[in-house]
Amino acid sequence: MNSRDSEHMIAELHEKEGYETTTDFKVADLILINTCSVRERPVHKLFSELGGFNKHKKPSAKIGVCGCTASHLGEEIIKKAPYVNFVLGARNVSKISEVLHKDKAVEIDINYDESEFAFKDFRSSPFKGFINISIGCDKACTFCIVPKTRGDEISIPDALVVQEAQKMVDAGAKEIFLLGQNVNNYGRRFSGEHEKVNFTELLRRLSKIEELQRIRFTSPHPFHMDDEFLEEFASNPKVCKSMHMPLQSGSTKVLKDMKRGYSKEWFLNRAKKLRDICPEATISTDIIVGFPGESDEDFEETIAVMKEVKFDQVFSFKYSPRPHTEAEAFTNIVDSEVASDRLSYLQALNNEMIDEKHAKLLGNVYHIYFEDLHRDGEHVAGRSDNNIVVRVKGREELLGKFANVKITAIGRTILTGEIIA
Ligand code: SAH
Repeated sequence: MNSRDSEHMIAELHEKEGYETTTDFKVADLILINTCSVRERPVHKLFSELGGFNKHKKPSAKIGVCGCTASHLGEEIIKKAPYVNFVLGARNVSKISEVLHKDKAVEIDINYDESEFAFKDFRSSPFKGFINISIGCDKACTFCIVPKTRGDEISIPDALVVQEAQKMVDAGAKEIFLLGQNVNNYGRRFSGEHEKVNFTELLRRLSKIEELQRIRFTSPHPFHMDDEFLEEFASNPKVCKSMHMPLQSGSTKVLKDMKRGYSKEWFLNRAKKLRDICPEATISTDIIVGFPGESDEDFEETIAVMKEVKFDQVFSFKYSPRPHTEAEAFTNIVDSEVASDRLSYLQALNNEMIDEKHAKLLGNVYHIYFEDLHRDGEHVAGRSDNNIVVRVKGREELLGKFANVKITAIGRTILTGEIIA
């Protein structure tokens, strides 16, 4: 989502102000830092990065702090780092050219309606297209700062989404990536009057774009995984068979304290249904350990769910108390060392499970869509429909193309393969 916001700002600056991008900040006239605030560490990193930029930048260069940390810290950023020229919240990226000309501007209205702005003609790559289908988040998860930095959830009208997808396909993309905090809650609220189209229907409408071959999305919310959605996921050949199911915890008690809206049983029921109707699908998840009140037994339940669902990838985090969240005031804190031990245990198990799965892939052949050039300039990386990431020897010519690839070497995060005729 942040990558897409950055694309928006670059587009606007290019169009209205004539800026070009550079990877060398020492020659830049403007340095933008697009921040995350979902956990605490990136916030600390912001101030150390800012110091470095300020020291070595061109004296005339401006610095802008954008994104979620900008939304919640606002003018505190300028107080702490007075050389910062402006602060622009995650929900205000459309105002980038406005704040650029106002020294010390702070634009952080989290309910500013910029849903119309969600489409700007800038893509970092013509071969993969991010499309915002909603902005903001209507959930009230007690650990999460996102609703306080990105505001209420507004869906983008489906006609605009389809039009944008068509434009991207015309420009050469064969795959699109739909973005939203809860994509399968799509259609609940629009800006102004609009036909109520749900996410399943949106997927159907997008699949009618003939040259479009693959549709990916993130993140769906387990609470909204009804049968209609799972069945469309399984039966629509254009929908990629990889599902992100953010579990957060395997204990119903903890899930309740987190206000996630589902129980362990509901989650397991949905995962089972998905495995039954779509056995080829890979499932990834997010897990938080050390949430206030998480006992050893609660943690054991999380591990049991991991083993039962056999996730293909687990993104795991130690709980980090965030400002403006309900859980910030919870007093039943888990000892930091205990939480770190739980995280290490969980991550070791995840690695073991991934190694076991990957070992079985050696020699398999996958239909891969190539989308990224490796830094070494000699390899390109791509994905299978079910999100297996493979690297092959090759150059730019392969980008935006499909090929059958045989897996020849196994790694934990990336596999290596050879294109076969
Ligand atoms: N909308 C998505 C979440 C986006 S944030 C959803 O509801 O699933 C991405 C992930 O960061 C979350 O899934 C969660 O696992 C993690 N996260 C969010 N707040 C956190 C916190 N306070 N501490 C640790 N991890 C957190």
